[in-house]
Amino acid sequence: MMAELSALEQLKASRNPLRVVEDLYKEALEGIPLSDEYIGLLKWYGMYPHINKDGLEDKKYFMKRIKLVDARMNLEQLKVMSEIGMKYAQGLVDFTTRQNVQFHYIEIKDIPAIFDLLSSVNLTSRMASGDGPRPIMTCPVSGIDDGEIYDVAKLLKEVDTYFDKNDDRFCNFPRKYKIGISGCKCHCAAHEVQDVAFTAFKTKNDEVLFDLTIGGGLSKSKQIATRANRYVKPEQVLDVAVACAEIFRDNGNRSNRNKARVRHLLNDWGIEKFVEEIEKAIGYKLQIGEVEPIIASYENRNHFGINKQQQVGLSYVGFATNSGRVAGEDFVKFYEICSKYGAGGVALTGTQNFIVYDIKDEFAQSLADEFEALGYPYKPNPFRARLQSCTGKEFCKFGITETKEYAKKVVVELENRFPDFKEDLTIAISGCGNTCSHPQIADIGFVGGMMRFDGERVEGYDVLIGGNLEGTSKSRIARKIGVKVPATGVVDYIESLLNDYKTDNLGQTRFKDY
Ligand code: SF4
Repeated sequence: MMAELSALEQLKASRNPLRVVEDLYKEALEGIPLSDEYIGLLKWYGMYPHINKDGLEDKKYFMKRIKLVDARMNLEQLKVMSEIGMKYAQGLVDFTTRQNVQFHYIEIKDIPAIFDLLSSVNLTSRMASGDGPRPIMTCPVSGIDDGEIYDVAKLLKEVDTYFDKNDDRFCNFPRKYKIGISGCKCHCAAHEVQDVAFTAFKTKNDEVLFDLTIGGGLSKSKQIATRANRYVKPEQVLDVAVACAEIFRDNGNRSNRNKARVRHLLNDWGIEKFVEEIEKAIGYKLQIGEVEPIIASYENRNHFGINKQQQVGLSYVGFATNSGRVAGEDFVKFYEICSKYGAGGVALTGTQNFIVYDIKDEFAQSLADEFEALGYPYKPNPFRARLQSCTGKEFCKFGITETKEYAKKVVVELENRFPDFKEDLTIAISGCGNTCSHPQIADIGFVGGMMRFDGERVEGYDVLIGGNLEGTSKSRIARKIGVKVPATGVVDYIESLLNDYKTDNLGQTRFKDY
């Protein structure tokens, strides 16, 4: 017997959620209020209602995520985005772990103007969220990194355009569907935690193939992806990405959202049946691929500093933010500095950092110095480079603890206490068990919740230790170690861990044996 569809499933089935935008315009232009039931469908345009002080949805303001198809904003896009940040988002800009920009304080009345601005520079927020293909994770330096294996930019756009143009087929999945396509030597698309991912490598004969991995993901039902033991040729990537999407759409669990990700289907079926279904859908066999390519470790997946591009005479520079938040005024400066030096634009990394690309070699140092003076170092210390934080209860309805501004203070305090710390350390702070900042793959992770401390109920964190990404065979999900610290004690706790780390020479083994 078919399980009964949930209310949300019935709503999604009643109309393409991407058409809700028509109602949105009615509210914005004619003042006809959007009915409550459709507010949840605004996610398909990357919009989530803010939370008021009582923890309830505040429908006056929305968070809005903008999709950057290849993780990049060229100069004119950067100009428009910085204008939106200042004019409509109260100067609050976040860079996400999925290489997108998130604005806050967006009002529905401003949506038509914002959409006009975005489309004037070929940007969109369609499918920035919702139950369908999410923005594809990729290398921020595709086509420019000197040592890259394969330029995946064209492939990525092909897959994204296919989903976008056929939105009636791809707008109503059981839940989100996250893809990664990477071709650089750093593997920055984090394929181990994507629903479906394609990771480029070169064979002994210099042929480029993609290793196919399926069913990774974090949050409560976390697991590292499984290798499909199949290699995919570049010209087959679109077929396989579409096949996997349709398999998930048609077979994923629609009665229980907690079991509705690709990994749940994979766990039910096993990898061989999943591959059989892919091959049935594409109509040909994929090449057997028994060996996993060599994969970079998580802490090395970055492109900081001044780097030569493939294009002679051009450089790119990688910078760190503090916990992914960028002041609106700074975002405007990003545009001004890039324009001053004739840079091509800004690309976002999956670690809430960014890269400025297509800078003439002779200007790279001056540009790097100006960004550094603004507070965005190009040779960051480990805390600024690798501490990630989620949106938290400031704006997120699931948030239990305030994370973003808090994480920024944690970074500064750690910098003060450990000015000479050089180890590659990853830290992540999340405001609830959905773990959007990826504490489960960090060396030290903090997952927010309430706790009793000194007789009071306060914000605190469960501590996770020992996560890492390094391919499907060596990656580790961090362990919850049974320690809970109040928010006020997190820096002291990290300090004690780092002192142990130095004393016990745990740098040899990272935190895995802690
Ligand atoms: Fe919101 Fe929780 Fe995700 Fe943070 S981890 S953004 S609080 S859902």
